[in-house]
Amino acid sequence: MQEELDDEGPEIEEDTQPVHAANEFLGAAIVPSGNRAGIQQPIQLDEGWKNSRKDKGKQVVVHDPKSGDSSDSDYLPGDECSSEDDDEVVEILTKFRVFKRRLKAGQVANLDEVILDSPKEVPNLYEIEDEGNLTPYDGSSDDEDSVEEMSDGDIQKCTSKCPRFNKKEPIPKFEIGMKFSGKKQFKKACIKHGLVERKLIKFYKNEASRMIAVCDWSTCKWRCMASVNSRSSSWQIASYNAEHTCPPRRDNRLVTAGRIAAKYEKMIIANPAWGLDSMKTTVQEDMFADVSFSKLKRAKSMVMQKALDATKGQYLLLYNYQLELLRSNPGSTVIVRRQGHTDIFQRMYICLDALKKGFKAGCRKVVGLDGCFFKGATNGELLCAIGRDANSQMYPIAWAVVEKENNDSWDWFCDLLFRDIEVYGGTGWVFISDQQKGILNAVQKWAPDAEHRNCARHIYANWRKKFKKKEWQKKFWACAKAPCVTLFNLAKARLAKDTQAGAQAIMNTDPHHWSRAWFRLGSFCDSVDNNMCESFNKWIVEARYFPIITMLETIRRKVMVRIQHNRTKSDGWNTVICPNILKKLNAYINLSGVCHAICNGQDQFEVVHWINRFTVDLNKKECSCRYWQLSGMPCPHAISFIFFKTNDLSPFIASCYSVEQFKNTYDHCLLPVEGMNAWPV
Ligand SMILES: [Zn+2]
Ligand SMILES: [Zn+2]
Repeated sequence: MQEELDDEGPEIEEDTQPVHAANEFLGAAIVPSGNRAGIQQPIQLDEGWKNSRKDKGKQVVVHDPKSGDSSDSDYLPGDECSSEDDDEVVEILTKFRVFKRRLKAGQVANLDEVILDSPKEVPNLYEIEDEGNLTPYDGSSDDEDSVEEMSDGDIQKCTSKCPRFNKKEPIPKFEIGMKFSGKKQFKKACIKHGLVERKLIKFYKNEASRMIAVCDWSTCKWRCMASVNSRSSSWQIASYNAEHTCPPRRDNRLVTAGRIAAKYEKMIIANPAWGLDSMKTTVQEDMFADVSFSKLKRAKSMVMQKALDATKGQYLLLYNYQLELLRSNPGSTVIVRRQGHTDIFQRMYICLDALKKGFKAGCRKVVGLDGCFFKGATNGELLCAIGRDANSQMYPIAWAVVEKENNDSWDWFCDLLFRDIEVYGGTGWVFISDQQKGILNAVQKWAPDAEHRNCARHIYANWRKKFKKKEWQKKFWACAKAPCVTLFNLAKARLAKDTQAGAQAIMNTDPHHWSRAWFRLGSFCDSVDNNMCESFNKWIVEARYFPIITMLETIRRKVMVRIQHNRTKSDGWNTVICPNILKKLNAYINLSGVCHAICNGQDQFEVVHWINRFTVDLNKKECSCRYWQLSGMPCPHAISFIFFKTNDLSPFIASCYSVEQFKNTYDHCLLPVEGMNAWPV
């Protein structure tokens, strides 16, 4: 596994799969659900995991405003071989990039509806900290206040029409008579004013019924007093001098460790190795304050402590979560595993009933397997199994939290997964992964008859380290996408003309596992990469910053919404074949213009395509280039002849791409899960 893969995309083409006998699945035995026998004690967080955090920082983005791009940047822009992914993949990628950019800029990501807290309301750590600004204010006198105070009569007049303070406004506005919910809100508003305007605000007369905020600059007259109106008994501004004559304050003590922690929480969680120098620069640019290293250190440790606390609390609830998933989505497989005989959490596997059913009902027997790191609060890694729907979009099947991606965890995951989706010996199945040893071994063990493909993007990423030239990239991908050995050899020969060593290096990577030329027929999957998994990992990137349950819930909810979205979307389709497939076929239709066919009179013919000649059999739906049999979509050679006979390609496209199959998949919806407080215990 690799974090986000740093490479260019190939021209990704989607895969397909035969009508994959829905019946075959109908009589299937029900896979036993999570086993809770003998588990009495709540599960714990492995203390050792805490320490692994130190190393983790090295794997993630290190904030450096000077470097244009970071280690886990993804596809290079403007690349010739960029993918021809469907709209969703492009959208996921765009959102992912925006997220990364915001994160790097230290902006808090927009995480609507996601809560970091445990069910019991934990008071916000950052607010508890004393601002240290309640220092007495010299040169003030009680008399002065009384003079300025509005008479009760005046306030009474405006009570009904006095504006209420709006805490949502980015720049707090004050005016005489403005109402606050209490002293606390007034104080917060003044602090916010100080932070936004870069002024240092101090408080004095911190009394039960009165509070005065002043500017710390000795000659500045800004001053705001709020007090309890004796009639309406609400906190209102009684006097206000809005003008600051002071300069912006670099030494703004309002920029406390707690406020830095609050502002950069995500950033710090994502980048535990964020250097203090860089952090100092960022804080100065954003908040205009010179802060000490010790304050920054304090801010960092506050965030890490909060993340750890939230995580700890969530581990205790994992069994409740398991029960709730099984209660709300019967038939699901949800397994929590502990380390040996301890109470320490090791792994959790989730395969929801609707996803098993949806996958079996309308997806090809093609599964991408991949793992990715968590980014912050949760330690360990996420493993996922992603299928493809009839429209060649990702279809998440199962995911798991494991301590580490290795032989043992993949063995465990594949064993569970293959039972859930009924892989048996693996005949007719295709698994796509990077070259992770654990996956290779597990698939070999649990599905020895399955076809195992290596992601060509990973192969390319390695190959490119030695063979960097941009012109070679296209030639590499031509090898990966050659549907038969003849065309592969041709593509390789073209590459060898440029780089003999590069062509040799390709042969050393075992192209049987990543070039279409050797893919088995019958899977209706022409995919040479694992982009489904990569899209999924990017799609859930925000979730990967959260404590374990919040993360798993975020993923589940995203999947739930997506299923609903796809269901609705397909209602508007009035073709037999799904739109992404038709879109892809358009490219082949264009190519078919340069193919010239001669017929033998019996639906068999020869097609000349540039220097190559292929034979096509319309009845068998075969072309000697192999692409038609491999993908289930007619190749340009076949299309060139089909168009002599008819304008409709649909009967020549495998039914696994039909809108009907798409609907079969999305017929199965996730069932709603209760909030944490209602979980069974
Ligand atoms: Zn001032
Ligand atoms: Zn062909």
